[in-house]
Amino acid sequence: MNEMDEDLEIKKEYIQLIVDGKRLDGRGFEELRPIKIEAGVLKRADGSCYLEMGRNKVVAAVYGPREVHPRHMQEPSKAVVRYRYNMAPFSVEERKRPGPDRRSVEISKVSREAYEPVIMKELFPRSGIDIFVEVLQADAGTRTACLNAATVALVDAGIPMRGLITSVAVAKVDGVLVLDPMKEEDNHGEADVPFAFVIRNGRIESIALVQMDGKMTVEEMKKATEMAKKGAMEIYALQREAIMKKYAAVEIEEE
Ligand code: UDP
Repeated sequence: MNEMDEDLEIKKEYIQLIVDGKRLDGRGFEELRPIKIEAGVLKRADGSCYLEMGRNKVVAAVYGPREVHPRHMQEPSKAVVRYRYNMAPFSVEERKRPGPDRRSVEISKVSREAYEPVIMKELFPRSGIDIFVEVLQADAGTRTACLNAATVALVDAGIPMRGLITSVAVAKVDGVLVLDPMKEEDNHGEADVPFAFVIRNGRIESIALVQMDGKMTVEEMKKATEMAKKGAMEIYALQREAIMKKYAAVEIEEE
């Protein structure tokens, strides 16, 4: 390794993340962080959701279908979907500079792409569906928390969808796979893989997003996918519960 490579190498501080077969917060390997979901929290949005996933706190707001501005962005035969992920300056340990950065632009793009095939855009030509997600407090997995919140906000807004998106990450820490990593596991682990799934008629139909940061064997990746699927089904049940709570008397369309 030459001098420049050495400079570029990011040396991660080693922290033992699995102690006596438990994670630092006491969770089992396949255990999610506590999740709290509330639909319809914002008066001015067409649909909204507040969601906590461990120490992550996020809000999603959906507007639309509505007229698209600027007008040249309209599509004659379908709706335009926009997704904006934003992290509040006070959401992280070291104050984040306000406004978009490369990371938030990338997260917004992949999140929008996860929803594109699910939202029935063809029903709303020339209109726009805007999804805003704001991270108020971050503790790793904010993109997954935001996707879960956005799904509930979209349902709350009455946007017709072919399925629901549910998202969770799997990490590799101290050589083992763990579900829904928190900040320490994300920072000091060997790999972090956020997944998003399309759930239709109560079953996982397809994968809408996978991102890989780090290294895993092919076998580990297969196991990670299975772990994420199980976790996603648990989250899906909570998303449904939050929606049902708001519309106690209304049956969910997909059922
Ligand atoms: N983070 C931070 N400052 C930043 C970006 C991220 O402190 O500018 C923290 C934050 O807690 C975030 C975590 O690092 O949740 C992991 O970030 P990553 O890019 O992996 O995205 P996430 O896991 O939140 O989807």
